[in-house]
Amino acid sequence: MGINSLVSPFDAIIFDLDDTLYPSTTGIDRCVKRNIELFLIEKCGFSESKAAHLRVELFKTYGSTLAGLRALGYDITAEEYHSFVHGRLPYDSIKPDVQLRNLLCTIKQRKIVFTNSDRIHAMRALDRLGISDCFEQIICFETINPNLPNSTRPDEFPVLLKPSLDAFRIALDAANVEPRRTLFLDDSVRNIAAGKRKWGLQTVLVGKTVKSKEANYAVEFVNNVAQAIPEIWANKMEYKDETITRTKSELESALAIALVGA
Ligand SMILES: [Mg+2]
Repeated sequence: MGINSLVSPFDAIIFDLDDTLYPSTTGIDRCVKRNIELFLIEKCGFSESKAAHLRVELFKTYGSTLAGLRALGYDITAEEYHSFVHGRLPYDSIKPDVQLRNLLCTIKQRKIVFTNSDRIHAMRALDRLGISDCFEQIICFETINPNLPNSTRPDEFPVLLKPSLDAFRIALDAANVEPRRTLFLDDSVRNIAAGKRKWGLQTVLVGKTVKSKEANYAVEFVNNVAQAIPEIWANKMEYKDETITRTKSELESALAIALVGA
């Protein structure tokens, strides 16, 4: 894939949120894990030692602790779970990211967030970063689990999350994108693999310097996409009634602006 044609291969860019649009060094992820264990102890009655083990096992088997608990018959609502697990997070540790905001502003394609997190958490994190207005659409837990509030018993509807086939189907339908012309960024190797293998998305593994098998690209930080994937900025420009293709120097100027902020 090159920029010889000067036409971007991407019509849309889908970003995961946690550990993708902000780095894991904020400590938020560590706090989420601890809060999940406290939920298992305080709300479900498990011992401290059992809770840590169970959190990992439920994630591996069901995709999340909430999904696992409901599948096992625990009558826990998503709202109750999310308000406990996310409600007490140290959001102050997510700092405004002006470089990221500038970078996103130079990307003319449709920009969409696709996260397993609930909408309240997604909006709080995006607001802290100062980028909530940079996205056309936020696809979150509520989007991919529309029937959950109507369930009459906990195992009536399985909780859907990335990397499940159904979660991607609902999200890609909601986003209305052509997967092969869509760039998908996520820090999870499992999500990248599902997006690539099952849906044909173009994939970027975030937070790693080495690509996983199904990743087209790897970037240590989301801000590094300017250097790693300049094809994003190759584009056609509309001018009066005719479509003209950007010249190489115009493209280089656009990239230089993006790189300043990266
Ligand atoms: Mg993530």
